[in-house]
Amino acid sequence: MSELSRRNVLKGLAAGVTVVGWSSLDRSWVAAGARDLAGVAVLPPLDGTVETTPEVLAGFAGDFGRLVTGTPTVVLRPGSVQDIVKMVRYARRHRLRIAMNGQSGTAGEFESHSNYGQASAPGGIAIDARGLSTIHAIDATVADVDAGVTWAQLTDAAAVTGRTPPMLTDFLHLSIGGTLSVGGTGGTMQRAGAQVDNVTELQVVTGEGELVTCSPWRHPVLFNAVLAGAGQCAIIVRATVELVPAATHALVFNLFYDDLDTYIADQLVVVGDGRFHYQEGQIVRRPDDSGWRYMMEVAYYYTPPAAPDQVALLAGLSDDRPAAVVTNPTYAEWAHRVDPAAAALKDAGFWDQPHPWLSLFVPASRTAEFIGSVVSQLTPADLGAGLATFFPIKTAKLTRPLLVVPRSESVAFQLSLLRFPFPGHPDIPGMLTQNRAFHDQAVALGGKRYVIGAVPDVTTRDWRRHYGALWPLFKAAKEHYDPDGVLTPGQGIFT
Ligand SMILES: Cc1cc2nc3c(=O)[nH]c(=O)nc-3n(C[C@H](O)[C@H](O)[C@H](O)COP(=O)(O)OP(=O)(O)OC[C@H]3O[C@@H](n4cnc5c(N)ncnc54)[C@H](O)[C@@H]3O)c2cc1C
Repeated sequence: MSELSRRNVLKGLAAGVTVVGWSSLDRSWVAAGARDLAGVAVLPPLDGTVETTPEVLAGFAGDFGRLVTGTPTVVLRPGSVQDIVKMVRYARRHRLRIAMNGQSGTAGEFESHSNYGQASAPGGIAIDARGLSTIHAIDATVADVDAGVTWAQLTDAAAVTGRTPPMLTDFLHLSIGGTLSVGGTGGTMQRAGAQVDNVTELQVVTGEGELVTCSPWRHPVLFNAVLAGAGQCAIIVRATVELVPAATHALVFNLFYDDLDTYIADQLVVVGDGRFHYQEGQIVRRPDDSGWRYMMEVAYYYTPPAAPDQVALLAGLSDDRPAAVVTNPTYAEWAHRVDPAAAALKDAGFWDQPHPWLSLFVPASRTAEFIGSVVSQLTPADLGAGLATFFPIKTAKLTRPLLVVPRSESVAFQLSLLRFPFPGHPDIPGMLTQNRAFHDQAVALGGKRYVIGAVPDVTTRDWRRHYGALWPLFKAAKEHYDPDGVLTPGQGIFT
């Protein structure tokens, strides 16, 4: 060991680091205090820590899906962006896989919100996104945030200045770096696009360990390869996220439909004229539990004394349905609307179960056929205490190429089976098989998957088909920015 390395070891020990480096000989980490450091590649001095205790590793082995396990051998809790630069370079030198883990959630309960090991780094290095959790600045039009900040933290901080991100996920306790790496979809997409469409600049660490600032004007190829790029080309460490003025209230309508065609027709009217700020919907049970029906959920944002005209907002929609259920939360209550349900699911033991989620985009013209088939097969137990969201999006609003949706039509529908199976449900494998079947059926109809969720047995052929004409470009970007293929193995895209 060189004198420099020896000094680094001592510095690391002083900072409480329990691991001194990686032994290429026996491919394992060497703990502080080991006598024989021959062949050990000493870790660079870090501002944060690396940890290897079984308890810490366990927190990064699984994810919200609770379906697959991929235990890392070390967890980096970065104390700075430079820590990530150093560890990616270190990983590259020693052919170790490395992935950022969102570790988002609510007080005391942090995890990756992926479903199928997308954030895992089996045998490699997991990075705890919470190490980068600073909101650096908020002004009238943008926020400058670290990747580990959650949308909840940003939404609450921006509210103080009367601002909000224009597109919020339904559940806010997700990391900004995590959703920007997959897309970030929700109810205001038909106006604002996805979260990846509302970012003006990123600071990233590429797979070569280079810290690069990219935007639509600076390194645009990298910018577009990172947004919704599933962590393949770079790790997002900091983002400039757009903000817009926030209304103080939401007028929310729940409209129920027994008939699928009428539901789709009304959804298309609303997405066409954009009369609401928020537009989602669900497949729900009929009140007598005799089958499925549909619920459009739309919201108009406003600030009193302005008062929305309820009659005008519903004009032209079918009246062959029960009276709308109308609520009037504050914008903050609305933005955090999922929190009480999430708390109840945790209390009732549903959070700790496997979650075979699925999310698909289907061209509008094939949606009735596809959803008709889905509801003919779906049982209440298939969703458990979960839900099935189902609503239209304007494909032209989704401008980032790697958020792949059916672009042959101006409107697509997103179907998400957000399954919370009853504790002890015996047939989780059956749900995964069903996911694969629904996925294949959607793809045959020109549909695409959202790269979250649990789709089993995905092959390179599936990914090629998914990305279509983008595949060679994405592959070239991967080879350019991550030439040793160290980043984010859990996505399984370039295996
Ligand atoms: C309760 C719940 C609600 C959800 N609601 C929505 C929703 O409304 N809309 C929606 O779009 N999705 C939603 N999701 C789905 C989706 O799984 C998450 O958006 C996504 O996984 C982000 O979660 P995370 O921050 O924990 O990141 P992770 O799940 O840990 O990461 C997602 C992927 O990105 C990579 N990654 C993470 N951070 C970075 C980074 N900084 N740089 C590069 N790569 C990175 C990871 O390695 C992984 O491959 C929800 C998931 C759950 C469990």
